[in-house]
Amino acid sequence: MLLAVKGLFGKSGCTRMVQGGYNVVLRAPDSLEAHFRDTIEGGAWLNDQELAWLLVSEAPGRVLELENRVGCFFDRNPDGTVHQKPFAGQRFDRTVHKGDLTGIEIVNRLSEQVAATATTVLEEVRAVELLHDHGRGRVVGALLLDQRTGRFVVAQARATLLATGGGPTMYKIAAPCHDKTCDGIAMAWRAGTTLMDMEMVQFHPTGLMAAGSQITGRCWRKACAARARTYSIRRASATCCATTHAGSAPRGTSSPARATRRSWPGGAPRKAACCWMSPIWARSS
Ligand SMILES: Cc1cc2nc3c(=O)[nH]c(=O)nc-3n(C[C@H](O)[C@H](O)[C@H](O)COP(=O)(O)OP(=O)(O)OC[C@H]3O[C@@H](n4cnc5c(N)ncnc54)[C@H](O)[C@@H]3O)c2cc1C
Repeated sequence: MLLAVKGLFGKSGCTRMVQGGYNVVLRAPDSLEAHFRDTIEGGAWLNDQELAWLLVSEAPGRVLELENRVGCFFDRNPDGTVHQKPFAGQRFDRTVHKGDLTGIEIVNRLSEQVAATATTVLEEVRAVELLHDHGRGRVVGALLLDQRTGRFVVAQARATLLATGGGPTMYKIAAPCHDKTCDGIAMAWRAGTTLMDMEMVQFHPTGLMAAGSQITGRCWRKACAARARTYSIRRASATCCATTHAGSAPRGTSSPARATRRSWPGGAPRKAACCWMSPIWARSS
């Protein structure tokens, strides 16, 4: 098995950046149907419902797998059950987490599992093209570029798995990891894959631009709780808090909040220069 990573193994990508956690139904009175409904409502009914159902119905098994097979230590209640915290747009406390370092826990434990196998890991090696078995329409490996030496590497494989994430760098301002540039998706497209929902490639995280800096979703939630003093934050927080169960909105709610602010007559005072970051806004700025 060969694993090629554009960045550093276990250090790159967005999964490591996950602070919140993993939404999953573990016990009544929560239910898969309720999780499904929250997911669809959070997505403003734009979601592919079959994929949303797959997401919620697979989640319990995946969390058990992460705990029991991969060795992740998620936070626990005093009675030993897995702790679940409230999170954006969820009607039940549903988010399995490890403090606010959930992504680091998952990626570190997964990296250990890879290290325990006979997998060759190539770091800072970027896949640039899928290789074809001409005539038979099969992918037989990938052309890789070693970014340290500038040399190309040909990797032949019976099965090639692309897990190259989204593409935040298509937006002028983006907080996620910049390793991901949609080049994996482009490779799949050049190999003949049909792409779907391309306007939803990377919608996370929502951020707040204030006085030239970027603030992530965590600070945003704190701003909600603290009722920050500037008018623009208060107004956006009100939009957010009014529409959710736990005072924390899904990104589809918090992003439009920035639109509210932008549509103020005469514009907002410079001192309170806040904009809710969304792909649409970032693209049009
Ligand atoms: C700050 C932040 C907080 C988040 N919080 C949460 C949360 O609380 N809960 C939640 O569910 N989601 C959260 N997300 C979203 C979540 O992190 C992502 O949806 C998820 O991690 C994406 O996983 P992935 O495997 O698709 O991509 P990634 O984890 O980003 O992995 C992509 C990998 O592909 C590599 N790569 C890219 N292109 C190439 C190439 N051409 N050749 C070789 N390698 C390549 C990259 O180096 C990287 O290692 C958060 C995201 C961010 C940025």
